Amino acid sequence: MFTTKLARLQGTLPLDLFAAIEDLKTELNAVILAHYYQDPDIQDIADFIGDSLQLARAAAQTNADVIVFAGVHFMAETAKILNPDKLVLLPDLNAGCSLADSCPPDQFAAFKAAHPDHLVISYINCSAEIKAMSDIICTSSNAVKIVQQIPKEQPIIFAPDRNLGRYVMQQTGRDMLLWQGSCVVHETFSERKIVELKTTHPEAEAIAHPECETSVLRHASYIGSTAALLNYCQKSPSHEFIVATEPGIIHQMQKLAPGKHFIPAPPENNCNCNECPFMRLNTLEKLYLAMKNRTPEITMSEDIRLAALKPMQRMLEMSV
Ligand code: SF4
Repeated sequence: MFTTKLARLQGTLPLDLFAAIEDLKTELNAVILAHYYQDPDIQDIADFIGDSLQLARAAAQTNADVIVFAGVHFMAETAKILNPDKLVLLPDLNAGCSLADSCPPDQFAAFKAAHPDHLVISYINCSAEIKAMSDIICTSSNAVKIVQQIPKEQPIIFAPDRNLGRYVMQQTGRDMLLWQGSCVVHETFSERKIVELKTTHPEAEAIAHPECETSVLRHASYIGSTAALLNYCQKSPSHEFIVATEPGIIHQMQKLAPGKHFIPAPPENNCNCNECPFMRLNTLEKLYLAMKNRTPEITMSEDIRLAALKPMQRMLEMSV
């Protein structure tokens, strides 16, 4: 923070970053897409805020020449897969994802080869290489709907998130072969502390993202994607919620449901492990610099892009 203030005083960063970013947006014909888990400042400057599915749709529809993706690497890659001719910028190239990283392409290729009769459905939280090895991509918003459309006799591999896979199995009654990946953030929530919170806030409704473990999901009265959670807390008659997903979403919850109270579900240890460390690598300053310098840019081979595009298109067709 001190370094940023110093940089502004020394003139390496503009004093009004918001105004400077707006100017660059016009100059570049750029659109800023931001995930709900980003810092409030980034959410406030974004042209579009959403979860993975909404952002993929927005990326597919934009007329901008430049997409500035305020999210993590696999999300910006998704935008590039859908927009090969556009410049796609990610403010910090190190903004990865523990879930995507839990599915290394070489190991997944061997896993897939061992089950040649299986259809591969991959959660969008995976690298372009994994997408390229998949038959259909899904998000937490449409995973159940997509699996329900697959003929019952067709065996399925579901990757990379075992928690979402388990949740989809419960919802659809389908048996699936699960890749054992997970998200460090969604596995950090403490069942014990959520139960304690429910005791001290008896009126509060617990709501959770399906990337959470079953032990946490069982205490939730509503389970859904980030967009679905946002929608639910506006419609629910409850005034207080315990929110078991990345707490960045609470900024939008407070904006869209003013007067309601949102309690972030706590991690087991007294740390900030419920905040995604990868999402937090993107800052307003880095976003400005990425636009000013037109870098870091997302690139990939055309072979991978075309192979990854097919299952993405299938998802968009199957989730209308
Ligand atoms: S919250 Fe988890 S799944 Fe989402 S970007 Fe962070 S590490 Fe990946």
